[in-house]
Amino acid sequence: MILVVGAGAAGIFAAWRAASLGARVTLLEKTSRIGTKILISGGGKCNITHDGPIEEVLRAFRPEEARFIRPACYRWTNRQVVEMLTSRGLEVYTRPDGRIFPVDGTAKDVLRILRSYLDEAGVEVRLDSPVVDVHAEGGRIVGVTVGPPMPAHKGYAKPTAGYGAKSLLQAVQAEDTPSGAARSGEELIACERLVLAVGGSSYPNSGTTGDGWPWARALGHTVLKPQAALAPIYLEGADPERSGVALRDCVLKARLAGKEIARWRGDLLFTHHGVSGPCALGVSRVVAERLAQGEIALEADIVPNLPHERLQEEFVAVGREHPKRPVCSLIALHLPSRLSDDLCRESGVDPDLPAGRLDKRSRNRLVEALKGWRLGAVRHVPLEKGEVVAGGVALDEVDPQTMHSRLVEGLYLCGEILDIAGPVGGYNLQAAFATGYVAGESATHP
Ligand SMILES: Cc1cc2nc3c(=O)[nH]c(=O)nc-3n(C[C@H](O)[C@H](O)[C@H](O)COP(=O)(O)OP(=O)(O)OC[C@H]3O[C@@H](n4cnc5c(N)ncnc54)[C@H](O)[C@@H]3O)c2cc1C
Repeated sequence: MILVVGAGAAGIFAAWRAASLGARVTLLEKTSRIGTKILISGGGKCNITHDGPIEEVLRAFRPEEARFIRPACYRWTNRQVVEMLTSRGLEVYTRPDGRIFPVDGTAKDVLRILRSYLDEAGVEVRLDSPVVDVHAEGGRIVGVTVGPPMPAHKGYAKPTAGYGAKSLLQAVQAEDTPSGAARSGEELIACERLVLAVGGSSYPNSGTTGDGWPWARALGHTVLKPQAALAPIYLEGADPERSGVALRDCVLKARLAGKEIARWRGDLLFTHHGVSGPCALGVSRVVAERLAQGEIALEADIVPNLPHERLQEEFVAVGREHPKRPVCSLIALHLPSRLSDDLCRESGVDPDLPAGRLDKRSRNRLVEALKGWRLGAVRHVPLEKGEVVAGGVALDEVDPQTMHSRLVEGLYLCGEILDIAGPVGGYNLQAAFATGYVAGESATHP
């Protein structure tokens, strides 16, 4: 029997692939539903995958991560993911930036289809079945302990480390059944092959509380420190009044001691604590990694398509044609009016000053601010609020052709439990689907 732990994107694909190849598969899920993160992905619309040739998709990842997922992404491509869904009635469309979404459908429809694949393949799905321990003996996987269901509102169980903590095999053999009761409310399930697909540790209320890492560590694996990635960024002195205001198509830059360390182009959303949206998520991984090295400041180029000189000309022309217009209304041509006063004041220019009286120095300051508005120093990047976490099981300890652990016989790892974190754009689900698919296939034909 193959046990798959975690019914997220990776676990669903691993279980489906293994069962469709004829294996007897049980999929153990801690919470009371499968695919919670798929359901909340893309704001409930589910950015299923990313369009384009595989090499282009891989280029979005860091080189070592791309190298690792390359074989899996060729074995289970973005095209195949899409075909799997469209062949069951889901219509999809590709945005100009390559992100693929359902047309009228939602993440719920995606999950419904995935569930139909699991059911048809004969996967036994066990909900409310939190694995609390993983057992190996003599370097081989022998089974897992499943704990009692956890009420979601009370949070989910923290795992207990347990490499070889007890001889599951002996306990099970003594009972002469494949599984048997252990401590009260716990159940031991024996298996020779185990796919760990319990995800990372962001959005812990969804069920992903980093359970897999203590097990992996106890089994001898290296686990790189989980770091926030694709997360909102909290700023010192964030103005809660700005919360909910968005900047369209800007370039967000992160600077450490004045030196640019990351940039992302797209939309930026102000929040109660700082910034979020694609731009913030896009730079968050580097910011989180380097925050300990010194103060990191964020600035936004609000008009990336307009060079300094063009903006200068625009201000001069408007000042000439509409000399009585307040300066803030010139700024409001480029950013939401709720922010234009702030930008003027922060540039030392009275927002109500008539445009005709704007002198060269003030004009320069406004142009500088539009091209590099200082949003503040980074206070924190909350790991738990990220769409993914960076860090996880070290990639060089897992065979990228099979997802088999190089250290423990019968152990397969896939999805976000591994040290993989792609950018926004459907990349992370693609990585989870593809590594899950390969893990399921290899576990069936080791
Ligand atoms: C808000 C949000 C939006 C996102 N949007 C997108 C998007 O649009 N496109 C994209 O590509 N990516 C998106 N992502 C990222 C993507 O969802 C994840 O990278 C992907 O789901 C990871 O898949 P996984 O199977 O490895 O882990 P998960 O999907 O996290 O699944 C892990 C599963 O394991 C279960 N589990 C955990 N511990 C145990 C245990 N002890 N016993 C049993 N089961 C356990 C969990 O309950 C969960 O069901 C988003 C993420 C978030 C949080």
